[in-house]
Amino acid sequence: MKYISIVVPVYNEQENVAVFYQEVCKHMEATGYPFELIFVDDGSTDKTILMLNKLIQQDTRVRAIILARNFGHQVALTCGLDHARGDAVITMDGDMQHPPAMLPLLINQWENGYEIVQTIRKDTQGVSWFKGFTSKMFYRSINAMSNINVAEGGSDFRLLDRKVVDTFRNFKEKARFIRGIISGMGYRRVEIEFVAPERFAGKSKFSLKKMLNFALDGITAYSKLPLRLAFYMGLLSGLLSLLLTADVVYTKLFTAEAVPGWATIAASVLLLGGLQLAGLGIIGEYIGRIFEEVKERPLYWVRDELKSEVELRTKAQ
Ligand code: UDP
Ligand code: MG
Repeated sequence: MKYISIVVPVYNEQENVAVFYQEVCKHMEATGYPFELIFVDDGSTDKTILMLNKLIQQDTRVRAIILARNFGHQVALTCGLDHARGDAVITMDGDMQHPPAMLPLLINQWENGYEIVQTIRKDTQGVSWFKGFTSKMFYRSINAMSNINVAEGGSDFRLLDRKVVDTFRNFKEKARFIRGIISGMGYRRVEIEFVAPERFAGKSKFSLKKMLNFALDGITAYSKLPLRLAFYMGLLSGLLSLLLTADVVYTKLFTAEAVPGWATIAASVLLLGGLQLAGLGIIGEYIGRIFEEVKERPLYWVRDELKSEVELRTKAQ
């Protein structure tokens, strides 16, 4: 019988863990597949670990890996994928925004032979205007700027066949944009749409800063356009200043007037200075990323994997 892993990164989700667990069990049991439910605790500071420990004691299908600190959603997901043992691995959020009721649908498509079952969020209930807008802009720009195609509303709620997970584990970059990696991977793939309900409890764990970092990681990982942009801007401003010089020389030699001095100089210096700074900034952004990658630090480190009392006792004997 095939075996399924469900990977869930959680960060301060104390009110959601129990409900989530119940719902997942209900829908997974209906499919008849044996499964493991792997929680990756991403440095929670509330009672999440305590809640996880309770689940571990009562159900051997539950596993909990505790990261040593907060590494971010994408890294926590990767840690879960590294630890999953299933023939298929499903990744989802622990706040009920990825409805556990959809699990049988995902598995059904896997049974139909698809190796990647990707869900597409058509709509999110109760999402702010700002988040909706920035998300749309982000997908538009990353698709326009790179040669991958990430579906608008693509989420990290998906099923991956074992083959895909093994391929994914060979991707070693630190600043990871999992949606990009998966959509550039190929394999037999199908999409399912869904409407994300509001979070069951608690607030979104994605601050504006985290969202910006996520967007920047995505764009710089899949596009060299910002770097080229610096080059094109330089070219354009060079051309403009050439035209300007030609105009100044012409006016001086062939007309009675001369172009008055300091204003034009100040303008062109400002223009060039600005463009150079912009270019340097973009280059700096990429160099910073190269620096992060060449250090080859580990992506994450685990503090602990929670164990049930029973398991500990049997080991001791
Ligand atoms: N999450 C995480 N680490 C983080 C931020 C979020 O593991 O640094 C988890 C969070 O607990 C949830 C999932 O990632 O299970 C999605 O986060 P959230 O619901 O806050 O994001 P949103 O749905 O608002 O985009
Ligand atoms: Mg959420």
